[in-house]
Amino acid sequence: MALVEQVEQSGEGRRRLRLANPATLAPLGEIEVGAAADVHAAVERARKAQLGWADLSFEERGRYLQRVVRVILERHDEIVATISSETGKPPTEALATEVMTACDALHFYAKRARRILGERRVPLHLMLTKKLRVIYKPLGVVGIITPWNFPFVLALNPVAQALMAGNAIVLKPSEATPFSARLVEELFSAAGLPEGVLNVVLGDGETGAALVEADVDKIVFTGSVATGRRVAEACGRQLVPCTLELGGKDPMIVCADADLERAARGAVYGAFANSGQVCTSTERVYVVDEVADRFTQLCVDATSELRQGSTGEFDVGAIIWPQQLDTIEAHVADALQRGATLLTGGRRNPNEAGFYYEPTILTNVSHEMRVMRDETFGPLLPIMRVPDEAAALRYANDSRYGLNANVWTRNKHKGAEMARAIESGCVVVNDCMVTYAVTEAPFGGVKESGIGRVNGEMGLRGYCHAQSIVIDRFGGRSELFWYPYTRRKLGMMKRMLRLMWGTSLGRWLS
Ligand code: NAD
Repeated sequence: MALVEQVEQSGEGRRRLRLANPATLAPLGEIEVGAAADVHAAVERARKAQLGWADLSFEERGRYLQRVVRVILERHDEIVATISSETGKPPTEALATEVMTACDALHFYAKRARRILGERRVPLHLMLTKKLRVIYKPLGVVGIITPWNFPFVLALNPVAQALMAGNAIVLKPSEATPFSARLVEELFSAAGLPEGVLNVVLGDGETGAALVEADVDKIVFTGSVATGRRVAEACGRQLVPCTLELGGKDPMIVCADADLERAARGAVYGAFANSGQVCTSTERVYVVDEVADRFTQLCVDATSELRQGSTGEFDVGAIIWPQQLDTIEAHVADALQRGATLLTGGRRNPNEAGFYYEPTILTNVSHEMRVMRDETFGPLLPIMRVPDEAAALRYANDSRYGLNANVWTRNKHKGAEMARAIESGCVVVNDCMVTYAVTEAPFGGVKESGIGRVNGEMGLRGYCHAQSIVIDRFGGRSELFWYPYTRRKLGMMKRMLRLMWGTSLGRWLS
């Protein structure tokens, strides 16, 4: 049984998908795939509701978000159960990485939107006869398309930001995890959000593609590189702005002076949390030669303590669907065929009914192997021994991805210097994967890992047009640059040019 199966079309020719829990394969229910007409109807509802929503003050909008926090606190067990049942992740992970992060995002943006998006007066350095005001206007209707790996927070967080900026939303969640997104809609509805401001359309890639073409004002996409490229092409053709939060192949660098116990535990968490299905999972490790044996042994020891399962206390959950298992198996097979050594794991877990792959550590890996080049999105920890830190940096940057990275050293100054040398949107020193949860941090990738940034001030402003309003202060009949263009005026401008940028006084003044 696959996790998502297409069942017969309904009377009106609509496709339906049947979903199952990836941990137990127990049925979860069915959804109807939203067609282009459903998407257009949702955009129209959003368009109508947006004007009224944008008229509210930041405080009024913030009160809705604060109410959602209260609803989450009341219903957190149900939310955790929904997330776990459709992803197979441990409840502790669902609570820590989705529910708590969601509450923080709601509270953070509700409290700070006025400071970040409020009208500002900007003092001018040169045109002293003018005044400048910058205002952040909502874009209108924002289309948000989300993946399955964090189905609750990756839907709720962009929704919270887009709403605080005054937009209405059409959200299209992953077909693998529709119920968490439906819950997001319910929570906002329970908080009294005006009808039409947040619209969820369930469905698969076809529904997502329809949303991209539905005349929205921005697409906020989180998902794979392949789909992101298609979304960007469609947005480019229509000149619709988009942010793309895509895949990663995050490197971990272990220096000789690292706290090896902490680094090994960090590697095991970074590689196996959410069964390795995190865009910022640690996907490849470079450890300097002199500590490689000890570090690797500590990783193996920490991995042996992990409990994989679906009930009671467990640490590592399921893989979302069979095609993901196939990718993981293909990467491991490629590595073993090219000479890698398997230290632990390396197979589907035979004791579980659902889709499980055992936490796997590989050594003697080389940079040609798929485990070091392509995003695996599974519980794999390939460890490569390198002669020194410079080599580690070279390998870390030898990738078409650049989302996140982590560096481990007791010398924090060196850690920050090495972080600067890594080509990625985010780097963590002596921890891993934490960047998305640091709400102030602009989050996003370079190279194929994405375009644009989400979260923090920069992310919130991404849901707005910045409009500059320049106001003349003194009036008068004419301005220096206006007609007529006389010889006298030309001479005066030349003297101004030399004074302003050709003398130290002018440079200081300007
Ligand atoms: P995916 O690209 O297969 O799907 C993402 C979403 O796009 C889904 O809702 C899907 O239905 C929709 N979609 C599919 N085809 C579409 C099309 N043609 N037009 C518009 N929408 C379409 O990704 P996934 O498998 O759901 O998620 C895993 C990927 O997401 C991994 O690569 C992971 O690294 C990445 N990811 C990135 C971040 C980040 O913040 N950078 C966060 C989480 C996941």
